[in-house]
Amino acid sequence: MTHELLVTNVRPPHGEAIDLRVVDGVIAEVGPALEASSPDARAMDGGGRLLFPGFVDAHTHMDKTLLGLPWYRNEVGPSLLDKIENERALRRELQLDPHAQSMKHARLAIATGTTHIRTHVDIDTDWGLQGFEGVAQTREDVKDALDIQIVAFPQSGMLIRPGTVDLMDEALRNGADVVGGLDPSAIDRDPAKHLDVIFDLAGKHDADIDIHLHEPGELGAFSLELIAERTRALGYQGRVVVSHALCLGGVDEAYLSRLIELLLENEITIMSHGPSGLRPVPSVKRLYEAGVRLCTGNDGVRDAWGPLNMPDMLLRAFIVAYRNNLRRDDELEMVLDIATNGGARVLGDANYGLQPGCAADFVLVEGETHVQAIIDRPPRSLVVKRGRIVARDGECVE
Ligand SMILES: [Zn+2]
Repeated sequence: MTHELLVTNVRPPHGEAIDLRVVDGVIAEVGPALEASSPDARAMDGGGRLLFPGFVDAHTHMDKTLLGLPWYRNEVGPSLLDKIENERALRRELQLDPHAQSMKHARLAIATGTTHIRTHVDIDTDWGLQGFEGVAQTREDVKDALDIQIVAFPQSGMLIRPGTVDLMDEALRNGADVVGGLDPSAIDRDPAKHLDVIFDLAGKHDADIDIHLHEPGELGAFSLELIAERTRALGYQGRVVVSHALCLGGVDEAYLSRLIELLLENEITIMSHGPSGLRPVPSVKRLYEAGVRLCTGNDGVRDAWGPLNMPDMLLRAFIVAYRNNLRRDDELEMVLDIATNGGARVLGDANYGLQPGCAADFVLVEGETHVQAIIDRPPRSLVVKRGRIVARDGECVE
């Protein structure tokens, strides 16, 4: 039986009010004064609400959120290693259940209009594949409401913890989608080997690559050059994301221009989430205007690293704008583009968008303009995933 949904009077970005006709999960028609083709069609009045394509959280960590648990008093030390070790200890102490935790995360994400997530999942020799298995179960449980891509992520280091590569390999065999990496110089202290192993794993499993790169200034820039070399040599253009890439905010203009050329030549995407702190960060606007592929995400949501992030991509757009000192409407529209289309390109969803033929993944929000919605962040009136209503008035529909 055909399933038809007609949503009338909604306002897309940059356009007049339209109607959307959805048939079997796909946008069949977009335009004024549409009519349902079947008497069984479900009709809804959009009431002039803002229409967004589904939000794309292209970088988060669903396996280790502390959402729904008693408040965790955070007294972690300042360094990256302090945070990594503290997290491993806390996870043991709490006997964290990655399936239950990632389900709580998924529900909040769906309720706020996220239709696609790429989540990094810790793989290490303490934790084994528990995180991967829990999130893979969640991916299955919510597959009609949210697309989840899993990155096999060596959060505790890879070469410095023998056995980690084998576990990553096993996760990829068992359904992880993407190969992760982490600070090849600063954590593993052997950048060429770290990257060779990652690119080997990716080639073996025909998987994309997503590397956390916090290394600052010229150290990080050197790692970025090594990533670009391997991307070119292995024909991996368009399949590599560098997450954070703090180094792009910490080199001089001449070096930055050279790095941007490398990113463009190799179609490498930069994920920037507007991190807190005083460290320099890449200028999202500089990269966007140069044509560099960009995406964003919530990173760790209320976890052992800190309590500040929540799974709401309108809040994320606000944070990216705030961190980058973006105030103009066209600048905030740029951030929305990154939080929707930019992320969808990374996740490889060719059917993403609001045109006929695209998957019917969209969000309705009350408000005057799309930019205003970033500032006010009202409850999402309606969230639709492949033509099904999955959330209404800020709450998931079971
Ligand atoms: Zn991360």
